[in-house]
Amino acid sequence: MAGNLTLDTLSKAVETGDIDTVIVAAVDMQGRLVGKRFHAAHFISEGWHETHCCNYLLTVDMEMFTVPGYKTASWEKGYGDYIMKPDLDTMRRLPWLEGTALVLCDLLDHHSHEEVPESPRAILKKQVARARAMGFEPMMATELEFYVFENSYETLRDQGTTNLAPISAYNEDYHIFQTTKEEPLMRALRNGLYGAGIPVENTKGEADAGQAEINVRYLDAMSTADNHVIVKTATKEIAHALGKSVTFMAKYDTAKGGSSSHVHQSLWTLDGKPAFRDDKDPRGMSALMKHYLAGQLAYARDTTLFLAPYVNSYKRFCVGLFAPTKAVWSCDNRTAGYRICGENTGAVRIECRIGGADLNPYLAMAALLAAGLEGIENKLPLEPEMTGDMYQLEGIREIPKNLREAAALTAASEAMRAALGADVIDHYVRAARWEIEESDRVVTDYELNRGLERA
Ligand code: ADP
Repeated sequence: MAGNLTLDTLSKAVETGDIDTVIVAAVDMQGRLVGKRFHAAHFISEGWHETHCCNYLLTVDMEMFTVPGYKTASWEKGYGDYIMKPDLDTMRRLPWLEGTALVLCDLLDHHSHEEVPESPRAILKKQVARARAMGFEPMMATELEFYVFENSYETLRDQGTTNLAPISAYNEDYHIFQTTKEEPLMRALRNGLYGAGIPVENTKGEADAGQAEINVRYLDAMSTADNHVIVKTATKEIAHALGKSVTFMAKYDTAKGGSSSHVHQSLWTLDGKPAFRDDKDPRGMSALMKHYLAGQLAYARDTTLFLAPYVNSYKRFCVGLFAPTKAVWSCDNRTAGYRICGENTGAVRIECRIGGADLNPYLAMAALLAAGLEGIENKLPLEPEMTGDMYQLEGIREIPKNLREAAALTAASEAMRAALGADVIDHYVRAARWEIEESDRVVTDYELNRGLERA
């Protein structure tokens, strides 16, 4: 069980007045929690069966705009309902919100009661089921980076974002003293998440002023994705309560390092043995791991869209700031898109470094799994390891340069259409194309500052 409450323990907590509110939430295309707050008594008597939401939630953009061009929901179809079906295994206390519990939901078709294929949880579930049918449990972790600012969200709303004040004055990578100053937020975050049943490993300062990282212990892929979206929400909620703000944008400032969400991956046998480990291999990498990695490399460019879903995401991929620019593999080398960690140990694993903190973890893990499982099914051979500074190597596989290129590659990928479903691919390519259309249309500060006087 991923959460730490059952209906029974929730009922007892409601009786004692410990809990009075249950947040019932689904996950949208952007990886945000969307849903309703229930009075706990009503949740226990009725809400736990199901509730409903407008089906536009899986088509709107960041601004909740009703984006045209989707098959699943539109003005023509009248924007009907989805069923929100609570997954009671995910039910947990949220210690940082008084008297409050949270349960995550699956989204079901209102008529057929089938899971909506475009829902992020459904997309990941399908790939996990595929891995299990092959005899493997995907175990994953996401490392999440973000920036912390002294400003409150309300100040930023009222005064604009020009005076963002990072919580630190300097690059605080691994610094203890600077992060001591940040403990009112970070300690509350670690302990709050722990109390919510999320096994936090650590937090640390990151490689720019005001940047932080949080690590949660690796778990089965669905639990990791669920934890990831709860961690993001918790970070915002706790920062807000302290009058501060955080951002998970991939790149909030041209001059600053971007924020990543590296994805650590390994496959385990269904009886709990690390299937990526082979004592006889010089690196300790099994044949299975090599095929999985070969699949990830073969489809690296087809899957980037799910690791970098916005126009802004691609601004993170620049030379010398620890975000990769090349989709190649290397052992313990932070300049490669796919870094092997834990060589010659039971924890040997692939760290995909391409994803930004703005990724949707369900889609990112589903796409990575789909690519890796293709590699295993087709016994793809692993290309030679690259060594040295990948930023300087010419003629090796590049990460797509922008969202337009990534969306075109995903749209044209027969392998991803077959693995994730053609409708799913069309849906998320539409989301990407909308982001491109909007950014093509909008005049930015950059253009204004360059052109106003001199154009
Ligand atoms: P780093 O050197 O990058 O800081 P860590 O030792 O902190 O690496 O591990 C990073 C993440 O990898 C952690 O979230 C950890 O739980 C996860 N991890 C460790 N072993 C495995 C594994 N076998 N499969 C997947 N993830 C793993």
